[in-house]
Amino acid sequence: MPDRPNILFVLTDDHAAHAMSAYGSQLNQTPHLDRIAAEGIRFDQADCTNALCAPSRAAILTGAHSHRNGMMTLTTSFDSAQPTFPALMQAAGYRTALFGKWHLGHGSGHDPVGFDEWQVLDGQGDYDDPELIGPDGRTQHTGYVTDILTDLALDWLEQQDGDQPWLLLLWHKAPHRRWFPGPQEQHLYQGVTFPEPETLFDDYSGRARAAEEAIIRVGRDLDELDAKTTIPEFDSQAERTSWFYQRYIGDYLRCVAGVDRTTGRLLDHLDATGQNDSTLVTYASDQGFFLGDHGYFDKRFMYADSLRIPLVMRYPAEIPAGTVSDDLALNLDLAQTFLDYAGIEAPDRMQGASLRSIARGEQPQDWREHIYYRYWEHLKAGVGAHVGVRTDRYKLIHYYGEALGITGAIDDPREPEWELFDTETDPAELQSVYGDPAYAQVREELTALLLQSIHEADDVPPPSLASLVS
Ligand code: CA
Repeated sequence: MPDRPNILFVLTDDHAAHAMSAYGSQLNQTPHLDRIAAEGIRFDQADCTNALCAPSRAAILTGAHSHRNGMMTLTTSFDSAQPTFPALMQAAGYRTALFGKWHLGHGSGHDPVGFDEWQVLDGQGDYDDPELIGPDGRTQHTGYVTDILTDLALDWLEQQDGDQPWLLLLWHKAPHRRWFPGPQEQHLYQGVTFPEPETLFDDYSGRARAAEEAIIRVGRDLDELDAKTTIPEFDSQAERTSWFYQRYIGDYLRCVAGVDRTTGRLLDHLDATGQNDSTLVTYASDQGFFLGDHGYFDKRFMYADSLRIPLVMRYPAEIPAGTVSDDLALNLDLAQTFLDYAGIEAPDRMQGASLRSIARGEQPQDWREHIYYRYWEHLKAGVGAHVGVRTDRYKLIHYYGEALGITGAIDDPREPEWELFDTETDPAELQSVYGDPAYAQVREELTALLLQSIHEADDVPPPSLASLVS
């Protein structure tokens, strides 16, 4: 076993676990992504800590919650001076590169730090003919973004001489809205009618008002630019919802297929160059996504489809093939996991935990039994700011109703609200049992767990919880 493995980390943007066949997708096949899981480990309960693009990326880089890494919303810029796993690995002798979506701000103090080479999209970037920003300025590329980024990654891998271990971050734009598939995937799924999720026509009864207030409904909030065709006349709202669902989910899945195909090229390269045993391959997404679930597209909520991320890792030298873990894992854990494999001690400010022993097939003592979540961007896309905690069975969400002066949040207060879900009896999270007397004790325990989590994370409780903090 090599002392320090190479690390290939492919991260996508908005790829829901339930659009990956290794996770039982009813919609599509992702053979290359599945191969990583089959030859390594699949984490079945992996979550993000703030289901939004830039905040999740910042959490992944720093191993710290949003309030600590400073990226609470999409509208601030990342402080690149803070410790990140790539910078620590570069300092320890790794060759490092980043290609793809950064979306954490540009310019001095915000550009990527800790990379021997980097080329990133300008903000969200373009699917077709993207411009990339690097240390030497901007370069206009011709072609499809997922292919261009993969080509850059493979070119860089070809240059590695084997004297130093390498860390390669390939952070795709796909399958972020608005969904433009590449030339090789454009004609997929012709004539296919995708099955509709059971909750596509959710009426939002049984939950906080926040669920209904969200402006992320497939049948109402997608538009002509998403449909990429003239919107026909409909006889009913339901017909409109079904039509938009078919339009957007097809393009979304075509974008996913591009990621899957190009990931296959990377795996082929590792096969051909004999680097499988010396390379840790990790695939994840920054958050999940609503695939028409609850009638939504987008993310932000602590509801399962948005909270959950696909997370698979392969390292044949250490991870037994076909391993599946039900341990609660987080995007926050990746920094410490990579540092662990690289033999580098993680700084105290990192707030996750290394997944390495779990991946090896061990059951670590004192592994977390709950996760802490906070969405700060109050009322952007109509989704109220919330904090929450979840165990393997229960989920408590508190919508605290305030922007709290956070950049990017909307100063339009709401009455605080609560939701409590029993995901064993209600996996689709349709009926909050917060007010159900049968769950009074659970509610009390989860509330205490939420306060404990805020304290443990060194976060500040929203004012609506202040009276509960002893
Ligand atoms: Ca995202």
